[in-house]
Amino acid sequence: MDLRPLGSTGIPVSPLSLGTVKLGRNQAVKYPQPFDLPSDEDARALLCLAVDLGINLLDTAPAYGSSEERLGKLLADLPGHFLISTKVGEEFDDSPQGPRSRYDFSPTHTRTSIERSLKRLRREILDIVLVHSDGCTNDAPALEALHTLTDLKAEGKVRAIGFSPKTPAGARAALPLSDVLMLTLNAAEPAMLPMVREAHAAGVGVLIKKGLSSGHLGGQLSPDPIESALAFLLTEPGISSVVVGTINPDHLQHNVAVAERVLGE
Ligand code: NAP
Repeated sequence: MDLRPLGSTGIPVSPLSLGTVKLGRNQAVKYPQPFDLPSDEDARALLCLAVDLGINLLDTAPAYGSSEERLGKLLADLPGHFLISTKVGEEFDDSPQGPRSRYDFSPTHTRTSIERSLKRLRREILDIVLVHSDGCTNDAPALEALHTLTDLKAEGKVRAIGFSPKTPAGARAALPLSDVLMLTLNAAEPAMLPMVREAHAAGVGVLIKKGLSSGHLGGQLSPDPIESALAFLLTEPGISSVVVGTINPDHLQHNVAVAERVLGE
């Protein structure tokens, strides 16, 4: 796959990238089927396949269970180099009610989270860090974390920063402070399409999450729901990369083949 610019960051990304929720967390997720976390051997094989297929970006987060830690360990002896996007703001941990998300956008927590991600991912600098919005109406607390990330970028801890909003209003508020937005976009959830175009006009890179509706594809986009979903996304000029979450090597291979067909590569 030919690499494309991630907005004005100077970072080239593959049109498909790999989401890694399912490498680290299988509790309180919204996928259609329950699943076991892949073994180290299977996860390593998946990452090697991703390298071979031309994928150059992995997406993770502290809220994805053991994902960051596993990536740090697995990538240490893997051929090739991945860019990594990770997040700040959301933590997924034990509470008396069971494992669940909590949010902390304070400067202290943001800095602690970045240091922890650097350590877990075994990196000197983080490529992309996004604030994980809590969906709160005006996103004001989450935007505070974006200001802290601006400082961390100036300090050389992070190359590109941005926001993963839950609403178009949150995306719009974050746009002037962001190098990158991570937006939900699929046929059933089209509300962010205008934001993709606004971001593109502003030179802000766009990563797409839930492009395959987190696996809830049903039959509505037949004959090939993957092709319909990826054609819609990959032909939209402002979209730099579609982050698809999979732990199935056949699915990964199929998705890349479809992307190449759609892009005429
Ligand atoms: P997604 O990429 O739309 O869909 C993933 C689901 O689709 C998985 O269950 C996967 O199952 C299935 N799938 C993938 N390829 C398939 C194929 N060829 N045929 C059939 N099923 C297929 O949803 P997502 O994982 O929710 O989102 C993608 C990534 O975005 C995440 O991994 C994460 O990195 C990021 N994300 C970020 C946020 C945020 O708030 N920042 C929120 C959600 C997600 P198999 O494993 O069986 O392939």
